[in-house]
Amino acid sequence: MQLLEMEGKQLFARHGIPVPRGTVWPELPTGAATLVIKAQVPAGGRGKRGGVRFATDAAEAGAFARALLGTVIGEHRVTQVYVEERVAIERELYLAVALDRDRRCYAILASPDGGVDIESVPEHRLLRLPIDPLGGPTGAELRRVAEFLALRGDIRRQAEQLIAKVYALVLQEDAELAEINPLALTGSGLIACDAKLVLDASAAFRHPDWQHYAGSRNGTEVERAIAAAGAMGIEISRQGEITGVVSGAGLMMATLDMLVDSGARVRLMVDLGGVVLAGPERIAPVLRAVAAVRPQTTFVNAYFQTARCDDFARALASAFTDARLAGRVVIRLKGRYDAQAREILAPLGFDVHADLQPALAAALAGI
Ligand code: GDP
Ligand code: MN
Repeated sequence: MQLLEMEGKQLFARHGIPVPRGTVWPELPTGAATLVIKAQVPAGGRGKRGGVRFATDAAEAGAFARALLGTVIGEHRVTQVYVEERVAIERELYLAVALDRDRRCYAILASPDGGVDIESVPEHRLLRLPIDPLGGPTGAELRRVAEFLALRGDIRRQAEQLIAKVYALVLQEDAELAEINPLALTGSGLIACDAKLVLDASAAFRHPDWQHYAGSRNGTEVERAIAAAGAMGIEISRQGEITGVVSGAGLMMATLDMLVDSGARVRLMVDLGGVVLAGPERIAPVLRAVAAVRPQTTFVNAYFQTARCDDFARALASAFTDARLAGRVVIRLKGRYDAQAREILAPLGFDVHADLQPALAAALAGI
């Protein structure tokens, strides 16, 4: 989940990382000589796309803010504009702490060439330093990063502290990425002029306050309802005639591929995830959320190597009576105790199969 710049900057400030003074328009920061007007969309490259403007007084700031509201940047409509004091930048640097999935640790990324697309910075001008996940960055590592940014003396020491704070932030806030571009070198030290924060959505249960972030309202109404029920849904096409409900993310991708390959138009895909074996009282709310799209055909595809199919079948049967899905339901259920599972589901009027091909054919036959 990517935060808006102003949400990221609030977190920065809470962790002692300096940010410019700012307010949400129509409020203006007091006592600022010149202002920066910034569209709040969860996407970068706003500067190049007209989403960042500079104003010399309140009237001009207001005109820019009104002009930005309602415009679309990338695929996001601008509904909020943030206004900051404009800081005098001597040099623009790049600093990030990013999750390195291959190395299973965080890495510090730094470049003395900030402010531009970091992708266009030549390799030798970008430092990528993996950090020991148990020990955190050492003093020598912090110094190495600060020196790579060509900082000296007091500023170098400030940079070392700032980098340590960004590293502490990603750990404490369960972030996948904290990126500052530009990190501005000014007469009064280093200031984070931009903030890109990506939080690990899987850690949301540890952070009840995340629900206040604009990004937590991402997704369609149906997707949010499915997420609230503890599963994961993706609406594919409003014209789709088939909805897939599967047990696991990999099977979801495979099922979607097979349906699309067969020429079917898919309405919605749902991964039951952790809900799959949690009993009918957890599955029913997911199916109720699915029922809202009034699927013509629902294709349930589940394969269990360790869990028991009959347990799932009982939960599914109970959940279906509760959720009352419109349309046909075709179920492919394979794994331990799948014969018993079919005996539970078939009498209820569901079209139940063990093997994929006949199940798929049955699901597609009706459309
Ligand atoms: P992005 O384009 O979405 O990454 O938005 P940024 O917040 O990075 O702003 C784009 C550019 O505007 C930055 O690279 C800076 O050059 C400039 N900028 C942003 N804030 C300030 C500021 O306070 N002072 C000055 N002088 N330039 C700024
Ligand atoms: Mn930026």
